[in-house]
Amino acid sequence: MRLNLFWKLGFAFFALLIAVLLPVEFYAERALRRGYERAGFEELAAIARVALAHPPQPADLISQVPAKSAPLLDWVAQLAASGIRVTVIASDGRVLADSQADPSTMENHAGRPEIQDAFAKGNGQSIRRSATINRDLLYYAVRQPVPGGTPVVLRFALPLQTVDEVLWEFRKRLWLASLVVLLVTGAAALLISRSLSDRVDRLTAFSRRVAEGDFRPIDADRSGDALEALAVSLNETAARLDRTIRTLTEERNLSSAILGSMVEGVAVVNASERLLFANPGFEEILDLDVPPQSGSALVEIVRQTELLEAVRQVLKGEPRVETEIVTGTLRQRFFAVTVAAVTAAETSGAVIVLHDITELRKLERVRRDFVANVSHELKTPLTAIQGFAETLLAGAIDDPKNRVRFLEIILDHSRRLARLTDDLLRLSKMDADRLDLEIQRLGVAHFVESCVETAQRPAAEKDLRISVNLQERLPDIAADRRRLAEVLQNLLDNAIQYTSPGGQIMLSASADPGEVKFTVSDTGIGIPQADQPRIFERFYRVDAARSREVGGTGLGLAIAKHLVEAHSGRIWVESEVGQGSQFYFTVPIFDSERSSSRNGR
Ligand code: ADP
Repeated sequence: MRLNLFWKLGFAFFALLIAVLLPVEFYAERALRRGYERAGFEELAAIARVALAHPPQPADLISQVPAKSAPLLDWVAQLAASGIRVTVIASDGRVLADSQADPSTMENHAGRPEIQDAFAKGNGQSIRRSATINRDLLYYAVRQPVPGGTPVVLRFALPLQTVDEVLWEFRKRLWLASLVVLLVTGAAALLISRSLSDRVDRLTAFSRRVAEGDFRPIDADRSGDALEALAVSLNETAARLDRTIRTLTEERNLSSAILGSMVEGVAVVNASERLLFANPGFEEILDLDVPPQSGSALVEIVRQTELLEAVRQVLKGEPRVETEIVTGTLRQRFFAVTVAAVTAAETSGAVIVLHDITELRKLERVRRDFVANVSHELKTPLTAIQGFAETLLAGAIDDPKNRVRFLEIILDHSRRLARLTDDLLRLSKMDADRLDLEIQRLGVAHFVESCVETAQRPAAEKDLRISVNLQERLPDIAADRRRLAEVLQNLLDNAIQYTSPGGQIMLSASADPGEVKFTVSDTGIGIPQADQPRIFERFYRVDAARSREVGGTGLGLAIAKHLVEAHSGRIWVESEVGQGSQFYFTVPIFDSERSSSRNGR
């Protein structure tokens, strides 16, 4: 780079120098030569004038034979002493005398241009190579009239060599000076190219650094030229890039954090149904084993045809399509699907949002079932009451044997109705969050004892034995005595109801960290695995006929669950058909600080 710049600059200087030197040399040499020639001719003319002031004796000239005689030769030699060549030429061109050669050996000079001019016009001049002495000469010739004879021409010549020498000297100096200038400019080019290339190198390194993501500015040198302006504008560009990239990165991080933490599934597909993006929620909802690759076909990832259909409708031009999908086989989950068209830049596609509505569906089902159940539960006793009342009115009232039995049935069913409505009222109160617990410190042993006492009589009637097994030194619990008694009572009732005569019921309690765990286990009929998660639902009964037969409403466990959870406890079941069931529930240990803050609420 540096060498390159140097050569370029050097060459430019050199070319400039040559371009200036050549015409300078050409014109200077021409002007000098002209000047010298003019001066030479003037000198010759002056000499001629002096010479003609003292012309040779006419006798020599009249004879017009090549001079042998002393006077003409002397005259010529005298003139030649000043360094010029003098020749005398007769009108026919013969040389009569010459200061440098023997006239007899010289050729006829009639054809020489200066001679011709001199004879014709009086004088003539020319520059040419002398055939006699083989040198370039300046010739100046004048016509000299000879009284009583034909005129002769006196010719004076000056060697041109002196002019050439002067010019050669001039040229030598010029080129020498140019060489010096060239060396100086070369050095200057080297210096300038070094400084320029250093600065350009710095700018190159800077732009490379920026390309790699390092946006620190470079120090702009204060040269004030275009390179400084370039550095300043590069700095500004880098700063702007830095800001833009930072903003974009922050926005991207934010949106990926939002999308990553969303429980909703979000995915984007392009116009050819290929996945562009999917958040973790999407993978989880569709239970994808491997995270979907960007660019994989949606049809290979998603099995739900409703979803695919919705995407296709949107890609065909529908702005927004909503549908619902179900995932999972054992534990079904429901998702509301919203597919909307997106257009970003020139690509179009669809964004899919999956929203979990399992709870909603479950609640809807529970509500539907609840209404159906309530109606059904009310219908049975009402039908019975109505039927027996009608029978009595139709005449059975007069049948002393049956009327009491019928009235007892009516009473039984109306009690059942009352129980049912009581339970329903309690549940609705709990639902409305109007359950005001009177939390107090409760000794487990004392509490258990009072509940078991109540259960002893019905158990004994069914020939069932209730045993109590409490861990020693149990901590006191924080509970509403009446409500918790309801829970335990309900579990004991169930154990009595669903255990065949001769069975065992065991009530135990043990301390766990922060809570006391109660267990009611029986050796009864047990609950099938599939029903276990549902028995805490309202009206859910494993065997509805049997439950009704024993006077159950199907609400007992639902109420128990509500009450336990209101105490911040948990309730669950473990059971095996034919072996018996264990119902567990936990109650928090009494903590004076917490209870005071709770009561203060
Ligand atoms: P119910 O009034 O019918 O007893 P619950 O809500 O108390 O209503 O119980 C719901 C269902 O759970 C019962 O119908 C019964 O099928 C089952 N169940 C409850 N406790 C037991 C138990 N100890 N042994 C067997 N099945 C039980």
